[in-house]
Order: sequence, then C-alpha cells, then structure tokens
Amino acid sequence: MLKTKQYDEITQIMMGRELGGTVLYWTSAYLVDGLLIDTGCAYTASELITYLEGRKVDQVVNTHHHEDHIGANALIRKEHNPEIYAHPSALPLINKRLPLREYQEMAWGYPEPSTVQAVPERIITTHHEFAVLETPGHSSDHISLFEAKKGWLFSGDLFVSEQYKALRADENIEMIIASLEKILALPPETITLFTSIGRVFPNGKKAIRNFLDYLHGLRQEIARLAATSMTAVEIRDRIFGRESQLAALTGEHFAVLNLVEQLMPEE
Ligand SMILES: [Zn+2]
Repeated sequence: MLKTKQYDEITQIMMGRELGGTVLYWTSAYLVDGLLIDTGCAYTASELITYLEGRKVDQVVNTHHHEDHIGANALIRKEHNPEIYAHPSALPLINKRLPLREYQEMAWGYPEPSTVQAVPERIITTHHEFAVLETPGHSSDHISLFEAKKGWLFSGDLFVSEQYKALRADENIEMIIASLEKILALPPETITLFTSIGRVFPNGKKAIRNFLDYLHGLRQEIARLAATSMTAVEIRDRIFGRESQLAALTGEHFAVLNLVEQLMPEE
C-alpha cells in the first residue's frame, strides 16, 4: 500500500506491505525537487514506480542499507535512470543480497541488489542544497540530509520517538546520542524532522532534547539499580514491567533488554 502526504513542497510517500487488509509497518520516503530520499521495501517497489510515473526523479539517496530503504532502487534506475547515492560503506551491502531475519522477510522482503555511488558532501537540486551528515548509530552507514535554509532534516531511522524503548541488537546507543547531539548543534533553532517511520516533528530539536533527557534519566535509574547488584533483566522488568512485544515479533532483534544492557554502567 502507498499513500502520500504533502508538507510544504515535500511529498511524504508512506509505503508498507499489506497483509490481510492491514499494513504491517509503514516506511516513509520523501520526494522533494527531484530528489527521492529512500525507496521503501521490495514489496512496495512497483507501487512506488507507478506513483513516480511522470514525476521528476533526478537523484536518489538511501539513508542507509536496510532493506526497507533500498527496495525500489533497481526498478527506479530502470525507469528514471537517476544517480543513486549512499554512504561509501553501504555500497557493498546494497550491491548484494543480504540475509534477512524471518520478520524482515515477512515485512519487507529481499531488495533486488543495485549499484549505487558514494554520496557527495552536498546534494544540489534545482532549488535546494542538502548537506549530507554522517549520523551513525542505527547503522554505521547511516546518513541524514539537511537543507539549512528551510531547516529540513531527513533523519532516516536515526530518530523514532521521544521515548524510544526497544533497541535493535546491532544499534549503538552511544553513537545515536552523538549523532543527535550533532543535529542539536546545527545553527537553526527550528528544524523540521522528517523520519522514516513516518512521524514529522515540526520542532525537531525539542523532540531530540526530550529523547536525550529521557535517556539520561533512564541511564541514571539503571546505574542506581545496577549498584544494588541487579542484573540487566531484573532492571528491565523493574523499570518497564516486561519485555516489549516487538521482541517476540522480531526474534529478540528489537528488545528493551538491548537498550538496558547498553545503558548499564561499565563494570
Ligand atoms: Zn533501518
């Protein structure tokens, strides 16, 4: 399924595999001034191509190599022949078929491998200029695009919500914090955050500060409990009651325990 929403001159393209009449998980791509940011998953690739028919797509940027961000790369290359860019370390990952976990195969499927180029420092479109920021943490190859004049930040999967609880096993919370602090240091006070999960935060810096405050408080609480010799599992249950349902759905790939373990004080 595909649906769109307009924010100023930016089109948000929400895509997700429909199973039994419901969409399992929505991923958003964004189209602005001939620049397409991410391409959704394999299951929605042909719907995206239909939507893009007659529209200008000169350049594509993948925020990172995950399968729900590169799924239509190969088809778009055939139809529109744009330059497709990603972080240099993502190129060998996008160019081959990576193994997927069961939940990933069900929700997003295997993207057709595609050859993409190393992203330059800036993406220039007819009316805009986007700085490419390295924002690792969700994945090591993660980038965000920042349009300084407009204050638009396309943050991919770096930022999900102000109270994020479950972390992917391969995410690095310290790197996520450092990347978010980098965004807070950007000059404009008002930044609109366009996320891949679909939420758009008109005051992105405020949302990021709320998240960092939440993490700070959580870290303190975890340290306090760890000092009483509680284990990470016991601390998780004390603070959150129980593990997130996401853990069962994703074979423990997304879990609250991952977040607690990463915030535990060093031994
Ligand atoms: Zn991702």
